[in-house]
Amino acid sequence: MTKEIAVIGLGQFGGSAVKQLHKLSADVTVIDISESKVKYYEDYAVECIVGSATDENMLKTIGIEHYDEVIIAIGEDIQTSILCTLILKELGVESITAKAQSNHHGKLLKKVGADNVLHPETEMGIRLANQLVNMSLVDYMEISDDTAIVEYDANERFINSALINIGIREKFGLNVIAIKRNKEVIVPPDPQMNILENDVLVIIGKIENLNRFESKMIKPKS
Ligand code: ADP
Repeated sequence: MTKEIAVIGLGQFGGSAVKQLHKLSADVTVIDISESKVKYYEDYAVECIVGSATDENMLKTIGIEHYDEVIIAIGEDIQTSILCTLILKELGVESITAKAQSNHHGKLLKKVGADNVLHPETEMGIRLANQLVNMSLVDYMEISDDTAIVEYDANERFINSALINIGIREKFGLNVIAIKRNKEVIVPPDPQMNILENDVLVIIGKIENLNRFESKMIKPKS
């Protein structure tokens, strides 16, 4: 079934989400107080509304509680995003994702009922720092405070060894969930499979275990 998603606020963040959702064939409703912003995104949306995120009557009229997901992508105006979250929660919206401007903003959004809180600037900063410090690291995504999914380039310590012989699970408590090889994604990987040059290992686990793995297996020998 096609997902019905409303995006409130069409800045950089909201706008990119709308375009990607459209690409993925979701039914998107766009809402913004700026008429020109709404007009700009009309080709990507099934419904376009010029109105305020805090206009409870408008939100009720469009039946916002029937959407699968509502994304509040208003970062700058903290008061508006908090009030909007509160209204959506009271109207019974099933899942609310809100963009936070700061840690305090994020905490408040959670308190008033946001199910997911995103800190895009902070997350991009962490990702960039990780990539700069560790050249083998291809991508990094925290999925909770203590767990992450990390992608590493296979280095000379792994190449031509079978996955099972590296002991990623036994020694480090981590799981290789996929191997990216050329354009192919091998998921789940066979434990007996040999790792080849240019493979990328996709690993999930506790951040402390990932750090241990990185310092023993990824960092160059000094
Ligand atoms: P970004 O950092 O992702 O560019 P902004 O906070 O700059 O996000 O942009 C927020 C968007 O939200 C703008 O398009 C703005 O017109 C819209 N917006 C601001 N206040 C409201 C409101 N009360 N109701 C609906 N849309 C709003």
